[in-house]
Amino acid sequence: MSEATSVLLFFGLPGSGKGTLSALCTQHLSYEQLSTGNLCREHIAKRSEIGKQIDFAIQSGKLVDDSLITSMVLEWFTQNIAQKRVILDGFPRTAIQAQGLDEFVKKAQNLKPLLVQLTIAEDVVVDRLGARRTCSNRSCQAVYSLAEGSGLMPLVAGQCDTCSSALITRRDDETAAIKERLKLYRAHEQALLDFYAGAGYPKLQLEANRPIEQVFEDLKQHLVKI
Ligand code: ADP
Repeated sequence: MSEATSVLLFFGLPGSGKGTLSALCTQHLSYEQLSTGNLCREHIAKRSEIGKQIDFAIQSGKLVDDSLITSMVLEWFTQNIAQKRVILDGFPRTAIQAQGLDEFVKKAQNLKPLLVQLTIAEDVVVDRLGARRTCSNRSCQAVYSLAEGSGLMPLVAGQCDTCSSALITRRDDETAAIKERLKLYRAHEQALLDFYAGAGYPKLQLEANRPIEQVFEDLKQHLVKI
């Protein structure tokens, strides 16, 4: 039988470091990442039909419709099924989405999901999201932080290290939208964890209120053991 595909499901509060950890995994461990947030923002920038439908939900911190987001992810997955290492960052976010993914995993047979849960206190992520800046170039979307000691400051103020585009504050990183996103995360968290427990997915919990290199080191240690 062919080698199984490792599918990391990154799960945690907005601002817990899922995107930054994904970037480290793609750079150093050859993972292919799908960020549903980035995918949605690309659609909005392109003004595609999907982009027009989801624009308001995203800006105000609400969730995109379950069936729409699930079909976007499964389409990406079908195109990338040959990859041996995959990260889903920001999906599933609801038990309905998890169910859609689970049906796909069961059909595909050789997918090996691992739930990677980043745990962190809410007040810490509120500060982090307020200090977050994102590259305005939609095909880059690199993430920085203006917080002292974050290790994620841009080299030149206001400018992306990778593509030199201007850095912006995402609309959904403004206070009202942050509150909405945290509320929605909490509303779906337990049902999602219950679903995973019922489906028997293995789970790795990582304390996320640490420098991201340490979080990455713990993840790497775990991945070599499985
Ligand atoms: P964060 O994890 O920091 O909240 P993301 O970039 O992952 O930010 O997501 C931004 C927004 O994209 C979400 O607030 C939501 O509107 C939309 N989105 C992303 N993933 C999903 C999903 N799985 N289901 C519904 N909406 C989603």
